[in-house]
Amino acid sequence: MESGEDVQLSALKGVGPQLAEKLARLHLHRMSDLLFHLPLRYEDRTRTQPLGQLRLGQHALVQGTVVSAQVQMGRRRSLLVKVRDDSGEVGLRFYYFSRAQQQKLQPGTAIQAFGEVRRGATGPEFYHPDYTAVPEGTPLPAPNGTLTPVYPTTEGLTQKRLRQLLEQALEWLKHSHELADLLPAEIRRQWDLPDLPTALQFVHHPPPATDLDTLASGEHPCVARLAVEELLAQHLGIRQLRHIARREAAPPLAPEHRRLQQQLLQALPFAPTGAQKRVLAEIEADLERPEPMLRLVQGDVGSGKTMVALLAMLRAVDAGWQAAFMAPTEILAEQHARNLSEWLTPLGVEVVLLQGKQSRRQRSDALARLAAGASCVVGTHALFQAEVVYQRLGLVVVDEQHRFGVDQRLLLREKGRQQGLVPHQLIMTATPIPRTLAMSLYADLDVSVIDELPPGRTPVVTTVLSNQQRDKVIQRVREACADRRQVYWVCTLIEDNEELQAQAAEELHGQLLETLAPVPVALIHGRMKNSEKSAVMQSFKEGDIQVLVATTVIEVGVDVPNASVMIIENAERLGLSQLHQLRGRVGRGAADSYCVLMYHAPLSQGGKARLNTMRSTSDGFQIAEQDLLLRGPGEVLGKRQTGEADFRIADLQRDQHWLPAIKSMAQTLEKDFPDIADALLSRWYPEGLEYGKV
Ligand code: ADP
Ligand code: MG
Repeated sequence: MESGEDVQLSALKGVGPQLAEKLARLHLHRMSDLLFHLPLRYEDRTRTQPLGQLRLGQHALVQGTVVSAQVQMGRRRSLLVKVRDDSGEVGLRFYYFSRAQQQKLQPGTAIQAFGEVRRGATGPEFYHPDYTAVPEGTPLPAPNGTLTPVYPTTEGLTQKRLRQLLEQALEWLKHSHELADLLPAEIRRQWDLPDLPTALQFVHHPPPATDLDTLASGEHPCVARLAVEELLAQHLGIRQLRHIARREAAPPLAPEHRRLQQQLLQALPFAPTGAQKRVLAEIEADLERPEPMLRLVQGDVGSGKTMVALLAMLRAVDAGWQAAFMAPTEILAEQHARNLSEWLTPLGVEVVLLQGKQSRRQRSDALARLAAGASCVVGTHALFQAEVVYQRLGLVVVDEQHRFGVDQRLLLREKGRQQGLVPHQLIMTATPIPRTLAMSLYADLDVSVIDELPPGRTPVVTTVLSNQQRDKVIQRVREACADRRQVYWVCTLIEDNEELQAQAAEELHGQLLETLAPVPVALIHGRMKNSEKSAVMQSFKEGDIQVLVATTVIEVGVDVPNASVMIIENAERLGLSQLHQLRGRVGRGAADSYCVLMYHAPLSQGGKARLNTMRSTSDGFQIAEQDLLLRGPGEVLGKRQTGEADFRIADLQRDQHWLPAIKSMAQTLEKDFPDIADALLSRWYPEGLEYGKV
């Protein structure tokens, strides 16, 4: 399908190599790119304001006659131009000005200016306003017929220049009909959306009476129309990648290989929950198919995801395939390796640990065992480094997905490619992603949810205390220790600086050793060697340590059922999901558990809202929805993920109510308008589809 995607901006008047280079910095290459470059905000230059009625802080277009233009010496030299109309007077102040400029602004000159009204030394003043001056008796330009757009720009490219270019582009749009409307009329009709030229014309040049709030909020159908098109393109892109991924072949695991799984289930001291059984069945149905599973398992902290993954891994091992388990940190990899060995070694299944920081000997030993066909391997990113060779990789489990990008997940898949087969993939995350968002971000995955906690867990009682009530906190810790319970004490700092965090944790450790003596208190932080960290974790697990002072290294996945008190310092500085993760470290056993959120007064609005949410609910999904409201999707999902969903116009939070509609539109396009679907992809993804970019 032909469309304006192919018209380059050099077709516009005045766009030479230099300007083209500046436009390229804004990712503007084609006519369509420019037309989809939307204003950040608007200025109202559609009517002039009498000088006597100016309000401080307001942006206003004014006109009048220059009564004086004088250089003032003050703290900084400046040119002050006094302008008068029938109703009053205003000053225009310039700190940078040329002699020519000064000469032109002689008394009697007619002038029109736009700027923000500020409180100046001589009454209301504009600083460096945009202005047009003409000799006495010459008419000033008429006010604009529409609101004036203010665009995102780059150094050396003025608003004026950009506006001129957009005017040309809009003219071109009116006459050339080359920019195809890629929302078919029936879809536009169904959702009450305007056609493309109407929407573009409107958002670049809204009429004077436009309610700007509806533009900013995306409610205005002309903005919605453009955002919907972009979301639709993104959704189609993800679906296409997914089709491609599914066209690969994977080893189908025959249903009869259940011996190891049965043995493990018999050895377990508990029965799987209903939710675990259901999710396992969903996974197994995927594993039995000849195409690769791509399944995301969401489950709150402590819902038993690891056990489900383990049971799935045993299916692969039983059928003669290797299974890899990838964790986000070295501590977690070690913990998982230890747990897996505990369960699997008695069944005769070999578990190998592979880490970046292992000694040479350990590493070559691990690699040799893998190449020889060891059944299970646990590790960090080290799992897909060049020298790692698998014999027959059939299943990859990625734990705590939010720490990995999609691209890393893919690398692992490529790593496992053998004789045209790629391994199945199971991704597990404890960050409950609100359903609407998951649909957009993970459209390439099937999703299962473990929505039930194992029985016998008591909810964690959460209290919020000011830093000044430390005595109370210490008392609570003493009681817990007297009860043979264990305590996490988490130190956080604003700075994302391991060194400073480590220092703060060391200080706190010293204080607590003294205050709580003879209770055994230990310290763990990111600056320690791996072997030291795991030694500390191990003795905490075994109960030799009662109070563990930690930086946020313990955040994800650590499992010590006897720990029942979690103290978080400076809790107001952490995001909701991080707090939820940390709190999830306790309440894993049958004992009553407590979480104390300590804060430094005064609390900001946001801090107060977060701590209140934590106190009022322990439902991960509810917390995630709240987090999304308070912080927006980029923050919730981490920087990596925002890169993945980098939109020009759409805003996942603002536009999320469209996502169900987008899904149905995508289906319609794929079925009835495949050409349009392709055209949408090349409009919005001119460099082609790539995981991590769509
Ligand atoms: P997650 O990874 O979802 O946070 P884990 O898989 O680490 O949770 O499980 C948390 C704890 O619950 C572990 O000690 C695990 O052995 C235990 N567990 C898992 N499933 C059950 C179950 N069905 N009944 C009782 N305990 C369970
Ligand atoms: Mg886990």
